[in-house]
Amino acid sequence: MSDRRRFVKLSMLSSAALLAGKSLNAATQALPDDKQYTTRKGKPVVVSTWDFGQVANAAAWRVLEQDHRAVDAVEAGVRVPEADPENQSVGYGGRPDRDGHVTLDACIMDEYSRCGAVAALEHIKHPISVARMVMDKTPHVMLVGDGALQFALECGFRKENLLTTKSKREWEQWLKKSEYAPQNNIENMLPGGAYNHDTIGMLAMDNRGDMGGACTTSGMAYKMRGRVGDSPIIGAGLYVDNEVGAATSSGVGEEVIRIVGSHLVVELMRMGFHPEAACRKAVERIANRNAGKPVDFQVGFLALNKHGEYGAYALQEGFTYSVRNDKEDRIFEAKHLF
Ligand code: ASP
Repeated sequence: MSDRRRFVKLSMLSSAALLAGKSLNAATQALPDDKQYTTRKGKPVVVSTWDFGQVANAAAWRVLEQDHRAVDAVEAGVRVPEADPENQSVGYGGRPDRDGHVTLDACIMDEYSRCGAVAALEHIKHPISVARMVMDKTPHVMLVGDGALQFALECGFRKENLLTTKSKREWEQWLKKSEYAPQNNIENMLPGGAYNHDTIGMLAMDNRGDMGGACTTSGMAYKMRGRVGDSPIIGAGLYVDNEVGAATSSGVGEEVIRIVGSHLVVELMRMGFHPEAACRKAVERIANRNAGKPVDFQVGFLALNKHGEYGAYALQEGFTYSVRNDKEDRIFEAKHLF
């Protein structure tokens, strides 16, 4: 049987099994025997982008305290802002694209380099859990658009309207001028000139010293229909290497994709850089593309290494991150280049 035919047959079997609610392990990114891989004793810690990461960290911390895997913790953690209608850049209540559709991007990665992602997913409040299902229940890494929605519905997720009155009203205001200038991030600029990006990227280490990460967003406000940023792209918005550490990003996704930012940060940590120094080098890489001249957009990276050390760095002032471990529950402001 040709490879192609074998794949098609496998996929058909998988869909049938999925619809029948059966485990797809044989055809998926199989979960290895834990004992083979998890021998260390870790110091649990969870870090996430922005100050609203603090409540998300609290949910993740409860999962870590119960001795569950880091990947379970980060999924539980980022579901908090996903469900919060007041958070207008993640999940329910997120700002729509320029045509008024709320489209969500998310990805998740575990200690075995298993990963799942969804992009341009509509009507589902918890894209991170759909990404988790892609990881756990399919042979694939990423599903997009209608296919991602179809998969989510088959998995039992509920179809909902995610556009809140507040976000709809703001979008209608924006429509009057329709000023589409994502490079300058005008729609996200706060009074006083600070930049307000709100993707949540979360990284954790569990009791066994294993790592996991999650990233979820409604993306850039009033983006073009179909635009996908860095957040659901493994290596760009998130990367986890259980031997080295993990990284995530927030800010103008196009800039992060160009340098495959989170993977770059992890590779720099592999070379021995502290998380903060690795994030700084990645930020410098973006700045150097612009000949080191100050740029008017924001990108911030956040990283956690295998020793439980963390750090962040951003292009502009205003990038904050939240940390939770057995000693601290704090919000930090990242250093910045410009
Ligand atoms: N990184 C996200 C994106 O480009 C947006 C953000 O973090 O503000 O979609």
